[in-house]
Amino acid sequence: MTPGVRPLIAGNWKMHGLAAEAQALARAVADGAAGLKAEVLICPPATLIAPLTQACAGVVALGGQDCHEAAKGAHTGDISAAMLKDAGASYVILGHSERRMAYRETSHRVRAKAEAAMAAGLIPVVCVGEPEDDRLLGRAEEVVAEQMAESLPDGFGAAGGVVAYEPVWAIGTGRTPTEADITAMHAMLRAKLAEAFPAEGAGLRLLYGGSVKPGNAAAILALPHVDGALVGGASLVAEDFLAIARAAG
Ligand code: PEP
Repeated sequence: MTPGVRPLIAGNWKMHGLAAEAQALARAVADGAAGLKAEVLICPPATLIAPLTQACAGVVALGGQDCHEAAKGAHTGDISAAMLKDAGASYVILGHSERRMAYRETSHRVRAKAEAAMAAGLIPVVCVGEPEDDRLLGRAEEVVAEQMAESLPDGFGAAGGVVAYEPVWAIGTGRTPTEADITAMHAMLRAKLAEAFPAEGAGLRLLYGGSVKPGNAAAILALPHVDGALVGGASLVAEDFLAIARAAG
């Protein structure tokens, strides 16, 4: 944890949730999140952002899971940052590895999306992380540093942007890097953030994501430069997600 930085516990619901179950989950999270040290964020499917604003009751922030880089236009099936903002979002996840892989999103495109998000008044949560091959070849830090450098636009620091380190091989697998590996990666990312954004880089939130569960959250969140977590599977179970949020202090 970085001293003086409010941790962020973000839930990525991915493509899960119909109205009734989503209302119940958001309400349960909001009930348990009141008064916590950590800021709690849920990123449901975009169709649920507006319907969940009341359940979140100003206690839990809402975010999108992606946005288009254009403000508007002929982009069938896409959603703009302003539309997310209009629906009640304050954050948007960008560059998740599932999108980098399934839609071949490059870091340059992620950067353009982050610019669009900031222009619309959203805080971008930019994901970076190495595939397992790169970890095994000893290139994890090099690959992630390059991804981050290419994905973050000018002004990211001033906008309070968030970076989530999510090793691809740890997402949804139940596997996590060693504490030493998370510490080394986050220290490297912190140094690069401080270099790229001298005014704000030391205080920007740097999340870890990849199989964070109630059982490992406290140990991961206690590591230096880990200022919160991006949580997939465990964010769909209110007690698990809240246990992770409580582990942030
Ligand atoms: C994610 O998809 O961002 C993620 C971290 O998933 P999980 O927690 O299920 O590994």
